[in-house]
Amino acid sequence: MAKKILVAGGAGYIGSHVQKQLLEEGFEVLVFDDLSSGDEVNILPQAEFIRGNILDKPVLEMAMSEGIDGVVHLAAKKAVGESMVNPELYAENNLAGSINILNAMVKYGVKHIVFSSSAAVYGMPEYVPIDEKHPIAPINYYGYTKRAIEENMEWYAKLGKLDYAALRYFNAVGYAADKSITGRERNPQNLMPIIMEAATGKREKFAIFGNDYDTPDGTCVRDYVHVSDLAKAHTAAMKKLMADGKSFTVNLGTGKGTSVKEIVEACEKVIGRKLNYDYAARRAGDPAKLTANADKAKELLGWKPQYTDVEDIIRTVWNLEI
Ligand code: UDP
Repeated sequence: MAKKILVAGGAGYIGSHVQKQLLEEGFEVLVFDDLSSGDEVNILPQAEFIRGNILDKPVLEMAMSEGIDGVVHLAAKKAVGESMVNPELYAENNLAGSINILNAMVKYGVKHIVFSSSAAVYGMPEYVPIDEKHPIAPINYYGYTKRAIEENMEWYAKLGKLDYAALRYFNAVGYAADKSITGRERNPQNLMPIIMEAATGKREKFAIFGNDYDTPDGTCVRDYVHVSDLAKAHTAAMKKLMADGKSFTVNLGTGKGTSVKEIVEACEKVIGRKLNYDYAARRAGDPAKLTANADKAKELLGWKPQYTDVEDIIRTVWNLEI
């Protein structure tokens, strides 16, 4: 019988791609999402949908009692800047909401959770590429919430309540190449959707934050990984937990660094015209270089990103616009 996965945050950008991948690999999917930032158009017709908030325990428990075999948890607030101004919001949604998910799982005997964590748990890199042994020292409240949830999962696993996979994403970009996921993020904060808004005339221009970093062209270097590749790591992680019940934590990135300037130039090439942007001051808390050593994901999950060319990745986004 097909296994049924509850995808909390399944209408969001990464969650909707995870939902699609799970369906393609023969899982049944129940999307649990309050649509506060996700979009209903992202929920595929084959998925069940419950509109609910993870802070609403009765609704969450009702969903968890629907014969669920595993949970993928991506329901979270994720704006770094906002987390420093309004930590209460992040404490409630990310910390309390995640505890509610873990406790509902324990209550209904759901054993496996794949958790959407972040490279933000590492803080300022002491070396790159970063492996999972790198010191943990988040420098923003958002990153702290991700680490705190990892720690809770570690405790629950140690106490025999569940097993978990913590997936530490680097920079997620791109859209499913078959254009099945179409909902764009509202008020995006990240580079790629902001550039796309400039490219489609939704905003007049954008800014590159800092051009005096110690990098080849002076702009920040990041590890951009295609969202469909990320989605595949979630299904592989769930299958591994179901097979051996051994909890683990892995980085998800390509290992390749790309500068902001290189991203902008690649976008201009794909779009076929110049974009309107300025150079602005550095953004607080931005490291010069952040790239992943994802050898552990390769080893444990056989995970290898299919998208390695940044122009190919950008094309999967631009194709939605044309
Ligand atoms: N960035 C930028 N302009 C923007 C948004 C982001 O120059 O309008 C830069 C940002 O400083 C960082 C890179 O783009 O160096 C990626 O930022 P993003 O917010 O997408 O992801 P992060 O690396 O913070 O997770």
